[in-house]
Amino acid sequence: MSYFRTAVDLTTGYIPGEQPKPGTPILKLNTNENPYPPSPKAIEVLRNLDSEWLRRYPDPYAKDFCLAVSEALEIPTDWIIVSNGSDELLNVIIRACAEGSDRPVVYPMPTYVLYRTLAALQPADAVEISYPQDFKLPIDELVAAKGAVTFIASPNSPSGHIVPLDDLRELAQRLSGILVIDEAYVDFADYSALPLVREFDNVIILRTLSKGYSLAGLRMGFGIANPQLLTGLFKVKDSYNIDAIATLVGAAAISDRAYKNECAEKIKKSREILTANLKNLDFTALKSHGNFLLATPPEGNAEHLYLQLKARGILVRYFKQFGLENKLRITVGTEEQNQTLLAALLAIEKQ
Ligand SMILES: *Cc1c(COP(=O)(O)O)cnc(C)c1O
Repeated sequence: MSYFRTAVDLTTGYIPGEQPKPGTPILKLNTNENPYPPSPKAIEVLRNLDSEWLRRYPDPYAKDFCLAVSEALEIPTDWIIVSNGSDELLNVIIRACAEGSDRPVVYPMPTYVLYRTLAALQPADAVEISYPQDFKLPIDELVAAKGAVTFIASPNSPSGHIVPLDDLRELAQRLSGILVIDEAYVDFADYSALPLVREFDNVIILRTLSKGYSLAGLRMGFGIANPQLLTGLFKVKDSYNIDAIATLVGAAAISDRAYKNECAEKIKKSREILTANLKNLDFTALKSHGNFLLATPPEGNAEHLYLQLKARGILVRYFKQFGLENKLRITVGTEEQNQTLLAALLAIEKQ
C-alpha cells in the first residue's frame, strides 16, 4: 500500500545537478549558470523594492514583465505566458495536453531529462527518438510518433547543437499536436525560432532568464505563442505562479539587453577558446551553440575524470545515461575559470 499514485511510485524524480551553497570554494561548471552577475539595473530594482509589493498578492499575469518582454522581442503582450522558471511551463504544458498512450509526449534523445520525468508523473507515454550521429532532426520518426506534445530543445542540451529553422518549420507543419521549442540557450546562439510562432498556431517557444540573464535563482521563464494556444495553459498554471519580486527584477533584466548581449558575447568567445584548448588535450568536443560543451575525454574515462575534478573542487556534469557514459558536459565559465579547469585536466593527465 502506498500513499502515492502508481505513476509517482514508479518515477525516480528529476535529479538536479549538485548545488553547493554560494561562498563554497568550488568551481561550478555543472548546471550551465552564467558566470557573470545579473544586470546592475536588475540588482538596483531589488535593492529599492518597496515592501508593499510583498504585502499584496502579485499580478497573476506578471504584466510588468510581459510589457518588458513585448518591447524587447517585439511581440504583443497577449502572446506571452510567464512562469516560475521555464521548468514550470514544461510542467503546465504536459498537464494541459498530455495523458496516457493516446496523448503521448515525444522528443529526440539525448535531451533535457526533465521532459521524461514530467511525462512519467503525468502519466503520459514518452516516445523517445534517438538523434542520429550528426544530430540531424529525425522529422519522419517524430511525426510518426503522433505526440500531443513534441519537445525540441534548440540549442539542445547536452549536445549543444542547434536545429535548423527549416527543419522546425517542417516539423510544425506536419505535427497534429503542439511543438514546444525550448530555447533556454538561445542567448548564446546565432538565431531563434521565434518567427515560427506567427506562422503556426501549434508552436510555443520557451525562454528563461536562468542562463542568458544570470538569474537562475530568480526562477523566471516565459512562453510565446498565439493567444489561442495560451488559453489552456492559463487555466492550468497556479494563479500566483510568479512572485512580485521576480516580476519586477525580471522586467529590469530583460530591458537591459545590452548588458545581456555583452555577457553572452564574452561567453561565446570563451566557448570557442575552451573548445580549442580541450581539443589540444585530445578531447573531442561538439560545436556548441549554448554556454556549455559536450566533451569526450581521450580515453573515454568520463566518470573517473568527473570524480577527479570533483576532488579538486571543480564540478562538471556527468550523465550516467546511454550514449553519454564517455562524455562530460562542461559549462563555459569566465576566462579565468576555464583556465583553472584546463590546468586541473592537465594535472590529472600527468598524475
Ligand atoms: C536550464 C534549462 C531549462 C530550465 O530553465 P529554468 O527557467 O531555470 O527552469 C529548460 N530547458 C532546458 C533545455 C534547460 O537546459
